[in-house]
Amino acid sequence: MRIAVYPGSFDPVTLAHLDIARRATRIFDRVIMAVFDRPQKNLLFTTEERLDLLREATVSMTGVEVMAYQILTVDFARSVGACALVRGLRTVSDFEAEYQMAQINQALDDSIEVVLLAAGRHYGHVSSSAVREMAALGREPVNFAPPHVLAALREKFTRGG
Ligand code: ADP
Repeated sequence: MRIAVYPGSFDPVTLAHLDIARRATRIFDRVIMAVFDRPQKNLLFTTEERLDLLREATVSMTGVEVMAYQILTVDFARSVGACALVRGLRTVSDFEAEYQMAQINQALDDSIEVVLLAAGRHYGHVSSSAVREMAALGREPVNFAPPHVLAALREKFTRGG
């Protein structure tokens, strides 16, 4: 059983995140989408909301699970028996950040490999921050996030969170 952890903020989950997770299940038997449960600062959705949105988005995705964690990512990965971390790459600036993070994680635990998947060809421009920005400014990010996420965004911005 090869298990990978795909960690992120998922604030909120986008179609691009789901594409990476789905593609990761071609390589791994189980892919755990792991929400880092950190203090609320700068996040639109609470940890519980981000988990609920992820659970609903992945309910029919075989091999994909959702969990929250509060410790170092490599320590969480080891605690669930994962052999790898999965992250996605869009741009050169993503590459720099992910490469540096991969080196740090390798220094912390070199038994866990980091697998960087290139953005799916339809998703290179998709980001959670663009989704939040569009929703905040009154445009539905229809091709960026699944319908239940659009509904959650509507709720946030029409009811003031
Ligand atoms: P974080 O705050 O940890 O960067 P995100 O939720 O923004 O978390 O992203 C989680 C992971 O998904 C990161 O590796 C990010 O590069 C990747 N990712 C986000 N959007 C895309 C995309 N459009 N294509 C490929 N990978 C993506």
